[in-house]
Amino acid sequence: MKKSNNFKLHKLVNNRIPSEILGCIRKWGPISRARLAENCGVSRPAITRTVSALLQQELLVETALSDSKGPRRKDGLVLNPEAGYCIAIAYTVEGLNVIAMDTSYTVVAETSRWVDLHPMTEEERLQTIFESVDDILAQTRDLKGHCLGLAVADPGVIDHEAGIAKWSSILQHWHNVPIVDIFQKRFQLPVLLLNGASTYIRAIDRLEMREQSENMFFVQFGAGIGCCFKLGGIYISGNAMLAGEFGHWKVTDEPVQCRCGGVGCLEAVAALPAIANNARAALQHGSESVLADLESFTGYDVLDAAAQGDRLSFRIVCEAFDQLGQAIGGLINTLAPEVVLIEEVVGRAGPDAVASLFQSIKRNILPSHSEHLSLRISTVESQLARIACLGAAVTTLDTCFEYDSN
Ligand SMILES: [Zn+2]
Repeated sequence: MKKSNNFKLHKLVNNRIPSEILGCIRKWGPISRARLAENCGVSRPAITRTVSALLQQELLVETALSDSKGPRRKDGLVLNPEAGYCIAIAYTVEGLNVIAMDTSYTVVAETSRWVDLHPMTEEERLQTIFESVDDILAQTRDLKGHCLGLAVADPGVIDHEAGIAKWSSILQHWHNVPIVDIFQKRFQLPVLLLNGASTYIRAIDRLEMREQSENMFFVQFGAGIGCCFKLGGIYISGNAMLAGEFGHWKVTDEPVQCRCGGVGCLEAVAALPAIANNARAALQHGSESVLADLESFTGYDVLDAAAQGDRLSFRIVCEAFDQLGQAIGGLINTLAPEVVLIEEVVGRAGPDAVASLFQSIKRNILPSHSEHLSLRISTVESQLARIACLGAAVTTLDTCFEYDSN
């Protein structure tokens, strides 16, 4: 199916140099013209000329620099939050998030709903999503600047070019849904369809890393395991946006069934459902644990029990983390990142379990790779729909600020 061309994402620049200068201001702002010339590699006269034009177009504003001398000196350049805004939508098994983000990359409206989207029909699911978008549109009615576009981060396999959600393992009745056409008709706005996982790295890079590393990973850990990358300053999404499915890396010959249909995948032995299953199996074999007092429990409960010193839980979590560490080590040896961030939820298992994960990673990487490597637990709250939403909004604004030579 051909992508509808009725709506095009609103481009804010039509030249390369202004686009690069806006990118530098986003990264370093508030920044003076002199520092901009140093950091951007553009001559001072070109900076002066372009910045004047961007101020006139109201894409930039000047603000007092904190080190400025005298009350009248105002030469810190920042992106103008009132140049427009975008809306981003994401849905996962955990629910539905919608945000509005202005052109200074600040969230200006937000809604979050815990709703089980899995069993719904396509029509019911779309109506539920529309209600949340309507809510955000009402909240943003008085914002200055206009809505530049709407991004939909789908949790399944998508056809980005055609704007179609092909299928999802976590949503029933969700086959070949023409998301772009449906949302454009409903909201009369340009629409971008993105794969949820491809948006995580942008959110983490922009909101946590502040674009300070060119080579980094973010490892997702929860009901599944995945990874997303920025390498050589470029976000890697792979063919059909399918890169990063490293939860389906085979790590054992044990006949452990994975939800992908395969056997012995990392996810099947180390993700939260596997941790909970291993704890249940150990209890059935008579192991002692605080978990035995619970009527039912999930992988989160096992992490919490491990943090509280429950020996069985700690052992099971460390076994899973050892598998995870081996796989992350293999990735580090292959791609040589500078920073590896692991999803915040891992920290729930407590500092000793986190230390065991980091030790497992370090045992599996070359000394040359560990020398300049920073391993960290992410500080961004583990709520994938929200992370996807932030990343989708960032992707939309980046696209609006990018110069497109075509
Ligand atoms: Zn698998």
